Amino acid sequence: PTSDIDWRQRAADLQPDGRAFIAGKRSDAASGQKADVLNPANGQVVAQMAVCGSADIDRAVSVAREAFFTWSRTSAVSRKQILLRFAALAEQHQDELALLESVDTGKLIRQTVEDDVPSALETLRWYAEAADKVMGEVPVVPPGATAVVSREPLGVVAAIVPWNFPLDLAVWKLAPALASGNTLVLKPSEESCLSILRLAELAYEAGVPEGVFNVVTGFGADAGAALSNHMDIDALAFTGSTKVSRTLLEASARSNLKRLSLEAGGKSSNIVFADTTDLQAAAEMAAYGSFYNQGQVCSANSRILVERSILEEFEGLLKKAAAAYAPVDPLSGTRGNGSLITRKHTDNVEKWITRGRQDGEIAFGGERLEISGSDAYLEPTLLKNLPREHPAHHEEIFGPVATLQVFDSEDEAVALANDTVYGLAASVWTADLSRAHRVARDLIAGTISVNTVNAVHNTTPFGGFKQSGFGRDLSLQAFDNYTAAKTTWFQF
Ligand code: NAD
Repeated sequence: PTSDIDWRQRAADLQPDGRAFIAGKRSDAASGQKADVLNPANGQVVAQMAVCGSADIDRAVSVAREAFFTWSRTSAVSRKQILLRFAALAEQHQDELALLESVDTGKLIRQTVEDDVPSALETLRWYAEAADKVMGEVPVVPPGATAVVSREPLGVVAAIVPWNFPLDLAVWKLAPALASGNTLVLKPSEESCLSILRLAELAYEAGVPEGVFNVVTGFGADAGAALSNHMDIDALAFTGSTKVSRTLLEASARSNLKRLSLEAGGKSSNIVFADTTDLQAAAEMAAYGSFYNQGQVCSANSRILVERSILEEFEGLLKKAAAAYAPVDPLSGTRGNGSLITRKHTDNVEKWITRGRQDGEIAFGGERLEISGSDAYLEPTLLKNLPREHPAHHEEIFGPVATLQVFDSEDEAVALANDTVYGLAASVWTADLSRAHRVARDLIAGTISVNTVNAVHNTTPFGGFKQSGFGRDLSLQAFDNYTAAKTTWFQF
């Protein structure tokens, strides 16, 4: 079991490599620039990241362009076999990937071992298996002709991903992109490059040809901007903030109209009706939906809306359930929460707690803690009695801080939940089937979970309405981000 392993010793033995991975090889940035990679859980430097700029991006795009010619002509069955070998090799390195993910982000080792890495592997296998099942169409056309509509890969795809689930969110992009015959230049967040770099290396070792899967490391303002403005990238798949999404749209418009899919921010509600059969389960899942991964989840259900008659009981149950997310040293092998991604981000989240205390009340939590020499830890925190229009109800906090609001009717609950510029997810708890259907119909969000939170599965599309972006990750719909229909008309 995870708890029996001495993860601290293993972490001490790790020698993570933060150099970019281009054309099947590790490389420093052309400029020679490097930046420290910090473990936010203890403040220690664990590696040096290559700070790539436009020269490195040009090189990565050019090798990816060259590799596209062969990879796109490799049969889908062969691509499937290669990607399955890649998944098998990554599986052999599960613990190493989980450890890299933990020391880079402050996530709990228990979580990266039990959740993050296994789910990345499952998604990789799912798309490998789907590679030879992406079908075209033979439409009805006038006699004397036959038309074939095929799904064609787009070419060189860039992926830019955030730090909250580095490996999983990278795989959500790379697996469908590669399975459908594109080549890839992926830029991880400057806060979390280590696991993805190792994954690219394993892909190459497993037989993914040189230049097919490249990773360029660096900052958003230079490496990210160079990718989004590049004239030879055909599509850009992004997961990150709504703010950066806007700059990517502008960059696409200014450059070559590269196709975009944008998984942006969220501020998702969790509506608990008084008729909920199992209030205990609802409270436990509400805690999970708000505090798991230190609350750094795009679809976190951090606006908790509770019907008045059960308010007190629910708040008590939620407080008990939140105790499971108390911060611990992430490498201790126990359960709890790890550190936030950086001290700076912890400062920003803490400001929300201060505002909550000033403008309302702290129902529980609210403390910043120091563990293993780092103060990037926050207690799971619930804010309440804030005015309806308070920014804490509307802006993404992206930390272990949820807000509690009370409602008196179904209509009011739906109105409160929809009162946001985002539309990524929402949850509803009720025993009334008709109500579940009505409320699910009226909520404006990409995923509605009924009597659970954050339902995410390889077979179901994930993405947003409104300012949460467009395009869908996961499921067969993700192939729409990486392929285009080509009509070939045969006249005879
Ligand atoms: P971010 O938008 O700051 O950064 C995301 C990525 O974009 C990073 O790799 C960063 O280097 C890069 N970037 C930054 N500026 C750029 C620029 N000008 N041009 C090109 N690239 C640039 O987001 P973050 O802080 O890493 O992650 C948190 C955000 O991600 C939250 O808003 C969260 O909701 C969102 N998110 C969304 C989903 C989803 O599926 N909808 C999933 C996870 C996270």
